[in-house]
Amino acid sequence: MVRNPRPRNNPHKSTKRGSDSQAVLKALTKHTTTSKLILDCHKALQALSKSNRVTLKWIRGHNGNRGNDAADELARQAASLRVAGPEPIIPIPFTEYKTWLHNQTQASHSVLWSKIKECKHTKEAIPVLNPRLTTKLLQLNRPKLRTVVGMITGHCPLNKHLSILGITDSPLCRACMETEETPIHVMLQCNGVAEQRAAHLGSSATLHEALGDLGGLLSFWSELGWLE
Ligand SMILES: [Zn+2]
Repeated sequence: MVRNPRPRNNPHKSTKRGSDSQAVLKALTKHTTTSKLILDCHKALQALSKSNRVTLKWIRGHNGNRGNDAADELARQAASLRVAGPEPIIPIPFTEYKTWLHNQTQASHSVLWSKIKECKHTKEAIPVLNPRLTTKLLQLNRPKLRTVVGMITGHCPLNKHLSILGITDSPLCRACMETEETPIHVMLQCNGVAEQRAAHLGSSATLHEALGDLGGLLSFWSELGWLE
């Protein structure tokens, strides 16, 4: 309950304002709200308190209080009005906007990713959007993240990519010399590193599966030392 700070011998009139909402009364007395409606109410009460001793009081709802019943009736009438103009006509919490925007962005991103023809290597690693993997990647330090992103995109210091850049003459795998040295070949197929693969990556059949165990993937490359 908020009382006008004027002394008891204040010659001004006394006025009481009631609400059947404990939450509203609490918000009006805390002064920490960000609600524009509550701030407007507070401002109006401050203006009223210049010439009145104002008392806020909780009253029981639907209990025959004339003013409260009139307020309820006005609320009912407002709720039954037909909408004119663009919706929504009542404020929506910011979190609703945020969730809506996030979902829209995710949906658009998914459609774009499914239609895109480029990024062949990355699409093999991440066929559909994977927010859980994103969270895990963002927890890695920079050198580990560089290694994993290199595996996902194929842009890493393995011979296939280095030969495209003109840094090496041969794109062939340094372990087996049979085919191009790519992340997929080394992590999933190369017989030359079968022992290390068995120790760290298990029996992953796809790059997508191998990304399910980032610890194993990183220790595999760390033991090989080919990305140093
Ligand atoms: Zn090989």
